[in-house]
Amino acid sequence: MTIERKPFPEGGQDWAELEARMDALSHDDIDWSGGRSPLFVFFNDQATYEVGKKAYAKFFTENALGRKRAFFGIAEMERDVLGHGLDLFSAPDGATGAFTSGGSESIFLAMKAARDAFRARTGRKAGHNIVVAWSAHPAFDKAADAMDIALRRAPLAPDLLADPAAMADLADEDTIAMVGSAPCFPHGIIDPIEALSALALERGIWLHVDACVGGYIAPFFHRIGRDIPHFDFRFAGVRSISADLHKFGFCPKPASTVYYRDADDLARATFDSDDWPNGRFATETLVGTRPGGAVAASWAVLNHLGEAGYRRAARNLAEMTDAYVAGIEAIEGLRMWARPDLSIINFGSGEIDMFEVAERMSARGWLPGLTKQPRGMHAMMSMLHAPARETYLADLSACVDEVRKGGASRSSLEATY
Ligand SMILES: *Cc1c(COP(=O)(O)O)cnc(C)c1O
Repeated sequence: MTIERKPFPEGGQDWAELEARMDALSHDDIDWSGGRSPLFVFFNDQATYEVGKKAYAKFFTENALGRKRAFFGIAEMERDVLGHGLDLFSAPDGATGAFTSGGSESIFLAMKAARDAFRARTGRKAGHNIVVAWSAHPAFDKAADAMDIALRRAPLAPDLLADPAAMADLADEDTIAMVGSAPCFPHGIIDPIEALSALALERGIWLHVDACVGGYIAPFFHRIGRDIPHFDFRFAGVRSISADLHKFGFCPKPASTVYYRDADDLARATFDSDDWPNGRFATETLVGTRPGGAVAASWAVLNHLGEAGYRRAARNLAEMTDAYVAGIEAIEGLRMWARPDLSIINFGSGEIDMFEVAERMSARGWLPGLTKQPRGMHAMMSMLHAPARETYLADLSACVDEVRKGGASRSSLEATY
């Protein structure tokens, strides 16, 4: 797609004019604050939102690239955040991590570290592959593509969890890493990391746990007594973990983390160069310049919420999700494709085409999340979705009715992120 050339703006518009134009430009946006987007945005409560925004604005200009030479406060806040993450994920002594600008970057870095660890161990430099479950995030395809590595997707078990036996079948002597998700994005369920860890140890393969979406809230679901599986460094085969602060950590974007069991692996992910006029340039991240505001805001949100705040958030999310699940199951013909471990839901029908339902929901102003296999609707819910529940369920029920009355037809809608 091409983009039309536009003469550079004349300039001189004041804030009032700019704001009015921006409001006009975003006039047709999805009403995310009304809980109508099942993707992209996260919210805990107004106080958390304000703390994140204020801390971000306070360090708006600081650049986290300069944290070692200029911005010592950012350096210390980053160490604090990473230290809390290591504690949350049961890391052993000697573990470490990096603060990144998103899950895709965290995943890229972990896969680069895994590749270089594999190369150091085997001496083989090409022909590598990564084995993931079919439900793994496309960020792994992206990283594999950029590094010329093959990605192998293993079929899921009937319960939609990663199937260790299927992954074992795909792994061979060129496998640099295996991946499990905690939880996977499509179905919202935590893969059997304990079994994958055992497999990883047996085969001597790096296991990465992708906890991007749920990493910062799942431990608190556990601590409030929800029966969900563990997924972290307590399992000896887990060598790296990615977890996004800017999802269910409720921190402003862009903020993610990648953790390594062994500090040597951070060194493998670090790019270190000295061959240019300004001397040594070393980054533990893919990007150079990084917003100091994102680090400060994450530090502030973690300290604001703390153990009690995240437990409260987990309880609120769990209760809201239970209510959504009960409402969906009460609609005749609908069923959950998986029992959600957190607040990501995926449901469908054995009788009607869910994409037909999704089209009608879209006409009613809901952005539909879709899964193509199994064919269903999908929503990643934060507290924006609590006040919208009754309207959503009423619309869903009405749309299901309409589709039922319309007879068997199949929507041409395609699942897209
Ligand atoms: C969001 C997500 C990612 C990618 O993170 P970005 O921050 O969007 O780059 C990776 N894995 C899972 C499971 C995710 O939900």
